[in-house]
Amino acid sequence: MFKLISGKEISLSVKERVAEEVKDLKKNGIEPCLAVILVGDDPASKVYVNNKKKACEFCGIRSLEYLLPADASQEELNSLVEKLNSDESVNGILCQLPLPAHLDEKEVLNLIKPEKDVDAFHPENVGHIMIGDFNFLPCTPAGIMEMLKYENICLDGKNCVIIGRSNIVGKPMAMLMLKENATVTVCHSHTKNLKEVVARADVVVAAVGKAKFVTADMIKDGAVIIDVGINRCEDGKLYGDVDFEACKEKASYITPVPGGVGPMTIATLMQNTVTAAKIQKG
Ligand code: NAD
Repeated sequence: MFKLISGKEISLSVKERVAEEVKDLKKNGIEPCLAVILVGDDPASKVYVNNKKKACEFCGIRSLEYLLPADASQEELNSLVEKLNSDESVNGILCQLPLPAHLDEKEVLNLIKPEKDVDAFHPENVGHIMIGDFNFLPCTPAGIMEMLKYENICLDGKNCVIIGRSNIVGKPMAMLMLKENATVTVCHSHTKNLKEVVARADVVVAAVGKAKFVTADMIKDGAVIIDVGINRCEDGKLYGDVDFEACKEKASYITPVPGGVGPMTIATLMQNTVTAAKIQKG
């Protein structure tokens, strides 16, 4: 019998905790503020930005939205980031990815001041995560760790297999699981015998970007299955990277899509914004 890990429920408890922290900060004259930059009109990005705005409202965080046209130049984008970097009332800066192809993502991410980098994508913050000494954690992997903690799933000595090696999910996920003393394997598009590797996993994190990629024959009985994928398919519905209906019969714990990792990512962003405000205001 599997247990559903509800990102909706757990993220609500995180956001309630953050809202309490925000109340306390406001009593001391500090109002945390998150600035979100969106370039172009990608429908999925618009939905994500809107959800972040709603979460800010819930937590009492001031949110600023900067919409740039799809043909915005690198200079325009950079100068907006620099303006927000020097604005003391802004604590967190987030540039919604992906950017239109003509813009250099790396250049923008490197420009955001590390203490305002609430996504934890700046090389300085990434370095801190590598050595396990950090202020911010990247939102999706940190949200997953929060879910595992909430469900009392201990990673010590466990075989954790992460499918996907992106800078946003796979790689930082590996660092956080290592910090909890797991034995971590990171798989990617060149991995040989993926099925055999995944079959040994006590915990599987799927971050591939392919609907229903992880099938029931790949996982072992009792595995914990964390589905990061968000794939909009031809029927207009959202699917994860895991074949949920088939895998749930073998899993001990499993996250749904939607309502799993997605809400946790946003809740962690709220937490990071409050952390940023606290650091900046001493
Ligand atoms: P990405 O495209 O940067 O990386 C995908 C990874 O999958 C790559 O490392 C690649 O090597 C690996 N891969 C591709 N084909 C493979 C194969 N056949 N076998 C093994 N590995 C393979 O993607 P990403 O940014 O890490 O995102 C992954 C998914 O997670 C996407 O669906 C994305 O939308 C979703 N996502 C969700 C959240 C959330 O909050 N829920 C956050 C970030 C990303």
